[in-house]
Amino acid sequence: MRQIIIHVDMDAFYASVEMRDDPSLRGKPLIIGSLPNERGVVATCSYEARKYGVHSGMNIKDAYRLCPGGIYRHPNFDKYKAVSSQLHAIWNAYASASETIALDEAYLDVTEKAVDWDGAREIARIIKQRTMDELQLTCSVGLAYSKTAAKTASEEKKPNGYFEILTPQDFVSLILDRDVKVLYTVGGSTAEKLYAAGISTVRDVHQRQEDVIRLLGKQGRWITQIAQGIDDRRVEPYRPEEAKSIGRELTFQKNVDNPELLKDVLFLLALNVENRARRVMLRGRGVTLKLTYADMKGITRSRSPVRADSAVAIWREAVRLLEQVEMRPVRLVGVSLYNLTNEEERQLRLEDFDDEEQREQEAERKRLFALLEAHYHLDFEGHLSQLYHMETLHKTAEYMRKHFL
Ligand SMILES: [Mg+2]
Repeated sequence: MRQIIIHVDMDAFYASVEMRDDPSLRGKPLIIGSLPNERGVVATCSYEARKYGVHSGMNIKDAYRLCPGGIYRHPNFDKYKAVSSQLHAIWNAYASASETIALDEAYLDVTEKAVDWDGAREIARIIKQRTMDELQLTCSVGLAYSKTAAKTASEEKKPNGYFEILTPQDFVSLILDRDVKVLYTVGGSTAEKLYAAGISTVRDVHQRQEDVIRLLGKQGRWITQIAQGIDDRRVEPYRPEEAKSIGRELTFQKNVDNPELLKDVLFLLALNVENRARRVMLRGRGVTLKLTYADMKGITRSRSPVRADSAVAIWREAVRLLEQVEMRPVRLVGVSLYNLTNEEERQLRLEDFDDEEQREQEAERKRLFALLEAHYHLDFEGHLSQLYHMETLHKTAEYMRKHFL
């Protein structure tokens, strides 16, 4: 069935909220993140600061070098989260399903409510209008037939933009001569591999599909599809602002009776949960393990308070819980975080190699990946970000189950 999808994304969100609340900041290069004398990064910055070349994720020292006259402020996450729930409440009113991507960003499935493209244009207009009237903030809205196209569309006319991409043909002609990085999941390291093979534009991807697949495997196949405008992913209802927990679970096609395989699958689930928690800046202080046995009897076991701010930490708690339960054939396994609190500093800190615990967790993460790759002949390289999609997660877990010796 044809989908009508809106992607809405606030413009320079943290900075815009600060400028709204303090008129003296308006029109100035405002950088939200660490202060120049601290270690850390830019969380976001105003469009005036962007003119100096400052962008989010940049080391704060580099930002200061580019823009010494800027105004540097720490973020106020409590405020942004409060604004975020107001925003999502407005947007959600027009969607049959909404998928929160970040505090300031969501996919909305408006297929039912809009009925047709005209209806969807009207919804896009109202969303922009209400966001301005009720919160005095601007957003950019993309209307399209797929998630990828909607996201591309919302970026097209930023800030305060609106753009629509109604067919795969329109999508392809828009991006054909752009850099491969325009394609969803093509980040820096993937792009480098493609460049090295002489594939630098979407047109090159079209002309050299087999090379792309040879080079990048599964991810390559996905990229060639996206390059043709093919993306059937649904908007997955996900509203963490209403959630009391963040979890992932999966059902095996055949029951699993080996705890070692369950532990490995739990690691994939933990990665997924970590990713989703980070996107909305939450961390959990409790971890729950959920199992459904072959006879449909279900159990949950929880531990709290625990430090569960990384995939490795979540995984360790889940494994500890697994080791305490009866081991018999399992049809479903899940892990979730609860007692959610704001995660404030992590996003701003650079990888802190002085932190012994973090370094140890990073090493453990690498070790676990290496073990999984060796044991199941998996290749996570390149398509790790794909693991955050439920479908890939299922396929990977099933593959592991079949190859478990
Ligand atoms: Mg944004």
